[in-house]
Amino acid sequence: MTFHKCNCHYIPPHVLGNMAKKGDPAVRQAARTSAQQAKLSREKRGVQAPKVPEMLTGIAMATAPAPVTAAREVYDCQNKWELRVKLARGEGDPEFGDDDVDTVYGYAETVRGYFAELGRNSIDNAGMNLRLNVHVGENYMNAFWDGDEMAFGDGDGQIFTSFAQSLDVMAHEMAHGVTQFTANLDYYSQSGALNEHFSDVFGTAITQYKLNQTVDDADWLIGNEIMGPTLYGEALRSMKAPGTAYDNPLLGKDPQPAHMKDYYNGPNDNRGVHINSGIMNRAFYLAATDQIGTQKAAKIWYHALQNLWPTADFDDAVEIIVESARTLVGDGVVPEGTTQTVRLAFKEVGLPS
Ligand SMILES: [Zn+2]
Repeated sequence: MTFHKCNCHYIPPHVLGNMAKKGDPAVRQAARTSAQQAKLSREKRGVQAPKVPEMLTGIAMATAPAPVTAAREVYDCQNKWELRVKLARGEGDPEFGDDDVDTVYGYAETVRGYFAELGRNSIDNAGMNLRLNVHVGENYMNAFWDGDEMAFGDGDGQIFTSFAQSLDVMAHEMAHGVTQFTANLDYYSQSGALNEHFSDVFGTAITQYKLNQTVDDADWLIGNEIMGPTLYGEALRSMKAPGTAYDNPLLGKDPQPAHMKDYYNGPNDNRGVHINSGIMNRAFYLAATDQIGTQKAAKIWYHALQNLWPTADFDDAVEIIVESARTLVGDGVVPEGTTQTVRLAFKEVGLPS
């Protein structure tokens, strides 16, 4: 089996593409540079595969929190198109005095701690250091996980603010790393939409955990924290109501379906990895809001992620997630009846297909 590093960007290509056509000249320029840079960093992907645990089926939920042995390394890239330009703050270092460096340092502790509570020691479950690059590029309107480390652009300040200032962005990107070292879902078509979906699940679960929110307090939005003054009030995705996150001339209209009947079959976005993920996202929202809550639902999803495989499709994921729910009911982690709750949530979005 070959394992691929995911080069996963936060802003989907259709959003940058629309901005490159519809924005004013400055926006067009920034969108083009950002899209081009996304392409460049995809092309520079190394061929070496990460060390991934062998076969992943049958992995149980850890019963105790994992030790935290991963150190944080925050790099100030000084607006260059390079990573790891200057180490600004390592583990245990005092405040650096740059808002993005220090914010990212703090958020990384939250995300690292969240996964430790799930029994996972860092992204690879072997204590790999968390390398976080801020001030990457000029007006760079994106963030990404490149298979080894994370990068955050400053945004242009008008449409997108700094990507380093959003916990949801970091949790989403770090979860791409966790996926890489577990199910290693191919970043294409349904397996790719599952990859995106799991990142949105942990993005929202970690944000709700940090803010101590109930399912009713939570906004269930992805990307609302990075919207600048021009697009204030919009978001990139809504897990509660996929397809309603944005509708404006600059970004276009949110293309996410909320049900299998509206499944996107086209070639864009790696065959819809950021599009069809809406269907799975809606199912997660329905399961979480039907009594069990976001954190218990996230435990089920995390259990499933460790038991999925690179080419898994939506139906496979439904089967494994339902099986995970059953296992965690048996272990007393989630209440009786949860298996049925999860099954019904999928049924409402037309799954299994
Ligand atoms: Zn993503």
